[in-house]
Amino acid sequence: MAYTELEARQRILEACHRLVENGLIARTWGNISARLSDTEMMITPSGRAYDTMKPQDLVVVNIVDGSYTGDIKPSSEKGVHADAYRLRPEVNFIVHTHQMYATAVGVSGQDLCMYDKYDPEAARVLGPWIPTTVYGTPGTQKLRDSVAHGVSGNPRSKAFLMPMHGALCLGRDQENAFEVADALERVAEHIVTTALSDTVVPEATVDGGCSVRSGNIFRLTLDGTERIGAVGSGRLHGFAAVHAAIYGHSKANTILFVTDEHIRAFSAEGRKLPSRIDDQVQIAGVGVDSVNTDASAAVLAGRITGRNALLLRGVGAFCWGKDEDDAHAVAMILSKTCLTERYAETVSKPLALSRFEALAQRVVYLTQYSKQKK
Ligand SMILES: [Zn+2]
Repeated sequence: MAYTELEARQRILEACHRLVENGLIARTWGNISARLSDTEMMITPSGRAYDTMKPQDLVVVNIVDGSYTGDIKPSSEKGVHADAYRLRPEVNFIVHTHQMYATAVGVSGQDLCMYDKYDPEAARVLGPWIPTTVYGTPGTQKLRDSVAHGVSGNPRSKAFLMPMHGALCLGRDQENAFEVADALERVAEHIVTTALSDTVVPEATVDGGCSVRSGNIFRLTLDGTERIGAVGSGRLHGFAAVHAAIYGHSKANTILFVTDEHIRAFSAEGRKLPSRIDDQVQIAGVGVDSVNTDASAAVLAGRITGRNALLLRGVGAFCWGKDEDDAHAVAMILSKTCLTERYAETVSKPLALSRFEALAQRVVYLTQYSKQKK
């Protein structure tokens, strides 16, 4: 059954909090909608934080022509949602996520078949297979058309992988849409962990330190002690020198050191991250690189400039941003990307973004995001 406007506002807001809590999206990536009637839906706005969103921020959009009322701009993926409601009359709630394991699995470019003996409960929720759509740049007609093609061609499927981006989960209602997202993540996690079961993950043994900048100095907490350093100083040693270099070659105000298992495992390979996910290239930068713990100032400079993360071989990664929130978002996405890259090594012909596409998305993101922060 379609939702009343009041119910839709409540249900979508609940869903926003739930997606953030469950780690299915970071910041404002992803979007959520509810059907109001045969011709109207309500959807999350473009570029607003989910944790502070209010009922009045949600936008009513015409499913047929995409028109909307009021001054708040609806999500740029409104066309994807509108097409799904038009093509699937039984669908009343949609969540578009950037969930970790489903995103990782999407790089294979293959549809996932659901065998009953494999996970009958997931097959009941998701339908006989999970189609993978053709890649399109976020917000474009190409993305909209490719998802619509997938949805209309697979009428029994409830979840769709949007390669190098995320997933679209269709539900009879809000509860069912989450069942779909959760079942999809469970299936994808099983596939990825099975593929990676033989790899050895290095132990977390080293602390690279976290720091906060204030003007020309920064305060570094490393191995439980606090010290002060000068931005760009060539006189510092060890990890303090890396922090000084990051502040010297970026606009960062916060640097975190992250050691989760996906980052440790990929960083041990000592190579650059290819561009396999679009939110990765937007927020972390194109070609996040790796250094040894004794890298020289010149090597550091070349691998910091233009990015928001740096892998430390076999140990972890430095992630930085304008504030702590920014740095955390970089860390979350870097972890997802490292997992994706390890899975990509196990499939033949994994998908990747072209260098042009990756650079263009990074530039557009930086321009739009800096406007939003002002
Ligand atoms: Zn998205």
